[in-house]
Amino acid sequence: MMKRKYSVILILLFAILSSFAQDKDTPQSGEGIYAFLRRHNREGAANYDEFIKLNKSKLGKNNSLLNGVTYLLPTLVDPTETNKQLSKQELEILESLDYEQLTKKSPDPQTKTKQQTYRLPLFGKKYEEYTVKDNLLSGACFFLVSGHGGPDSGAIAKVDGHSLHEDEYAYDIVLRLARSLLEHGATVHIIIQDPKDGIRDDKYLNNSKKETCMGEPLPLNQLERLKQRCKAVNTLSRKAKEKYQRAIFIHLDSRSKKQQLDVFFYYQSEAANKKKSKLLAETMAKTFEEQYNKHQPGRGFSGTVSTRPLYVMKKASPVAIFVELANMQNVNDQRRYLSDNNRQALANWLSMGFIKDYQQSQ
Ligand SMILES: [Zn+2]
Repeated sequence: MMKRKYSVILILLFAILSSFAQDKDTPQSGEGIYAFLRRHNREGAANYDEFIKLNKSKLGKNNSLLNGVTYLLPTLVDPTETNKQLSKQELEILESLDYEQLTKKSPDPQTKTKQQTYRLPLFGKKYEEYTVKDNLLSGACFFLVSGHGGPDSGAIAKVDGHSLHEDEYAYDIVLRLARSLLEHGATVHIIIQDPKDGIRDDKYLNNSKKETCMGEPLPLNQLERLKQRCKAVNTLSRKAKEKYQRAIFIHLDSRSKKQQLDVFFYYQSEAANKKKSKLLAETMAKTFEEQYNKHQPGRGFSGTVSTRPLYVMKKASPVAIFVELANMQNVNDQRRYLSDNNRQALANWLSMGFIKDYQQSQ
């Protein structure tokens, strides 16, 4: 009995200690800072600056590395932030390569449609125009629900004196996801809407309470709020003619500061949707893993796929998943959602996951 208690304590201690441990290494002979960092997958100016900061007292003349000295390595950051912060253009190039592959996998060869441009004011001035680039998702219908909104901000994180609200970041990612799905020819319903906030490229998103459920004010009572959005999804779902329908509930949420999250994908446990919901969650996790490996080799991905008895997942009639994209309180996770490029990357990856799911459903 006692023995077991001790081993539990030991394991806990070890876990706590190792979470503090920072990667370190000694340089190979002749290695400069750049080569040293490259060998540890930490390229780019941000890593260089961080390295200097961490090891100021241990560097030689002109910031040279000294033989036999152990240097601390900068923490590996999210890819979406990355060694080398990807520019919008680079992201787009990577994306188009992915889509090219997906197009090749498409069972029916894409009939080259004339690219049509549409307008959705909900996306805001800068992004309201979008072009349908291909048919990868034609025949697919999506219900996108961003977590919280209106009187309920969701998780709150304090960063650089700003009070950041989960609902604003979830909404921005939902809009980006909606735009991406539309670009691939899908039918998209944005369930929670803000008449004023379109897609925003700011780091710190302003808070508002103007969100509605497709025009209806959000009730104060939490259960009523959840009921309202499920009802909206289910009513639209009944009317939709598409056979393939998927709903997604997007959250960021809040855990302890220390805990870095990859991404949590939850599937429905009810028999009617379980199989398809689980497959979708797994496909999403796999897509994220592939993207992480591509953008930041060596980082690894520890996203989880599981089921949880969440009200909205029980009540939503279409096949649905629930995602937690980050821990609002964790410094590394904050990089993931504070940068507009990263929010775009997350939206693109979700969109890519949906495309794969749609293709495997046919
Ligand atoms: Zn939440």
